[in-house]
Amino acid sequence: MSMDNLARIIALPELQITEVKHASGNTITMTCIKTSEFEVCPKCASKADRIYDHRNVTIKDEPLRSKSVFLVIRKRRFFCKACRKPFMEPVQGIGKGRRTTHRFQASVCRAAELYSDLKSVQKTYRCSADTVYRATYGQLELNQRKRQYPLPSAIGIDEHSIRKPRFKATIYATMLVDHRNRRVYDLMEGRSKTEVEEGLRKLQGCQNVKQVTLDLSPTYRDLARTWFPNADLIADRFHVQRLFTKKVNRLRKRITGDKRSHPMRKLLLRNLEDLEWYEKRVVWQWLGFHPALKEIYEFKEAMRRFYKIRGYKRAKKALGRICDRMGYSKNKDVLELRKVILDWWDEILNYHRYNGMSNGRVEGFNRKAKLCQRRAYGFKKFKNYRLRLLNLCA
Ligand SMILES: [Zn+2]
Repeated sequence: MSMDNLARIIALPELQITEVKHASGNTITMTCIKTSEFEVCPKCASKADRIYDHRNVTIKDEPLRSKSVFLVIRKRRFFCKACRKPFMEPVQGIGKGRRTTHRFQASVCRAAELYSDLKSVQKTYRCSADTVYRATYGQLELNQRKRQYPLPSAIGIDEHSIRKPRFKATIYATMLVDHRNRRVYDLMEGRSKTEVEEGLRKLQGCQNVKQVTLDLSPTYRDLARTWFPNADLIADRFHVQRLFTKKVNRLRKRITGDKRSHPMRKLLLRNLEDLEWYEKRVVWQWLGFHPALKEIYEFKEAMRRFYKIRGYKRAKKALGRICDRMGYSKNKDVLELRKVILDWWDEILNYHRYNGMSNGRVEGFNRKAKLCQRRAYGFKKFKNYRLRLLNLCA
């Protein structure tokens, strides 16, 4: 293997190694030079071949077999005749003014993903916390920029909370999920209209979006209607069903007390059709004593059956029947639920128009978000949290 190839692996492609020193056992210092015949001025792009003077720079490179590697480069400064000024020769693989190579940064970033905390990365790479921090987030930002693409045709939108350990306050984040590619598309700070709009303004391809899945939040619905004019909105089925189970649960608590181990709790929350015959008998017998709860329970089961229906037209008829029946009720809770369904009529029915599209994936990513937060022991800056999560769910 020629020296040129060896330098490509050990030093950097343009450099030639002139001397290697093993100092103190855990560092390797390599003295290198660049041997090009001329350089191009970074300001005016004219050719310069007159050497002005030399400067030694020390650059930290990726470790070799657990030893730190330093490249001491004897850099030449060329004199540009057009600008009448000297300039420092650039070296491929090192950013301008940086004290570390690109591959060192990439390596630290990979380690930061694998290790449980940045402190151990710092120990392994024998560098300051600041270096780890800057290398990691610089690399993550680069990765993120490489991955960017215009908005896809089907997205999901949802919120989750972020607890800031330092301030003990809870802030929120809005997540956009790309359904087809199964990844988090973007993350925005906050959940209010103005905050999310600020994030949406930066995105490209709002016209592409054809379907949006969302929870039953009026804010997100307004946003989706104005920002994605070509999209049909789909209310997430789990959020719709949760409205009913929540009411059932609350009413049951009023009867049995707030004990989680109460046997009726599980029986009422489970699907009726999954129960054994004797369990069903218990449920109906018990509900016989509590007519108000029985009514809501029946509607909860009706909604579950509604989501099992195949075909848009049949589903529409069924939902109409449920609403009619709810309209006759004198129960305040039932009327309240009916109002929500009527308000979200199109969005709920769109579930059947688009073959059962739901926000399930978004909820899955929310779990991942929590994991990400816990691993980092909280984030001080939202920007960093966003980069981490986008990288994790790419
Ligand atoms: Zn110049």
